[in-house]
Amino acid sequence: MALSENINVFARVRPASPRFAEAAPSCVQTDPTTSTITIDNKGKKQQFQLKKVFRQNSTQENVFDDVGRAILDGFIDGINGTIFAYGQTGSGKTFTMLGVEGSHECDLLNRGIIPRMVEDIFATLQTRHEKNPDSFKFILKCSFLELYNEKLYDLLLFKKDASITIQQQRQKIVINGATECEVKTSEECMKCLWKGWNQRKVAETSMNHASSRSHAIFMLTLITETVDGTVLNRQTSRLNMVDLAGSERQTHTNNVGSKLREAGSINKSLSILARVIRDLASSRTSSTSSSTPQHISYRDSLLTFLLRDSLGGNARTAVIVNIHPNLQFVTDTLSTLSFAESVQ
Ligand code: ADP
Ligand code: MG
Repeated sequence: MALSENINVFARVRPASPRFAEAAPSCVQTDPTTSTITIDNKGKKQQFQLKKVFRQNSTQENVFDDVGRAILDGFIDGINGTIFAYGQTGSGKTFTMLGVEGSHECDLLNRGIIPRMVEDIFATLQTRHEKNPDSFKFILKCSFLELYNEKLYDLLLFKKDASITIQQQRQKIVINGATECEVKTSEECMKCLWKGWNQRKVAETSMNHASSRSHAIFMLTLITETVDGTVLNRQTSRLNMVDLAGSERQTHTNNVGSKLREAGSINKSLSILARVIRDLASSRTSSTSSSTPQHISYRDSLLTFLLRDSLGGNARTAVIVNIHPNLQFVTDTLSTLSFAESVQ
């Protein structure tokens, strides 16, 4: 069982790639009734149990219903949320978060968690507002950041020089220099998302780094105002949806100079993320028995510092580990599942 109900870890196995299938058969078996996933590495079997396991035929809707909905409900009620997609390059992170790359607007069936969250958030907020136009109002803003080599870039106003900084002010994380677009409809919000996504592709060439080497963070900030009699209740919540850098093991043999620095920075930020989530989970379970709250070192990486408010405290977190079933990737698959097991 998860250490904390606030952190849920899911696995999603993508369909086997025909490119590899013949040379390397699948090494993954899933059992949704027990939420287990078994890896068969040439006869050596290892089993992992998670909150839920999505098999190869799971739909985008299945994943959204089980992962997104609870976080969405919380976000609307003032609880911060974060959804991470973790896994090696090619394992389905972007498919899970966005959908099929390059055919965003037309492939409705395959749209990922982010478009579904956006639609449902607007539908819920607009219905609430229409029912009580005087007593319920909301403002929704979005930002889209890329984190590469411990520097933050603004994907909505792309500049080559990283000018975004973050600082902590009175227990709150303040992001300086990032574009925040107020969006009034789901369509407007999606436009921002695709604009940023395209910028990320442009940056891939102009900055000479593959987008799989950076984290992409789509952020929504919601401010709601509810009038109850004469009392005005103002609430702010944040939702982060994160397509993490590829978690594949970095071999140092071919990496020199900037590539070596890049590999080190990805390894570091993913391992610090794991540690922070683990520390949060154990501090939540021990908070009833211990009087001194555990210190969580968010500042050790920019990713955890940026997401501080949405990981600890009043927050819900979901981690989806994406798995490529082909035996050829078994080492990375086992490392991904060890990550999954360690953070739940
Ligand atoms: P990543 O972002 O982890 O590098 P992608 O999401 O780009 O991986 O997935 C690699 C390829 O596999 C893409 O062509 C994607 O559309 C496809 N793919 C991934 N997961 C699935 C899935 N569950 N169903 C169908 N196609 C998938
Ligand atoms: Mg990707």
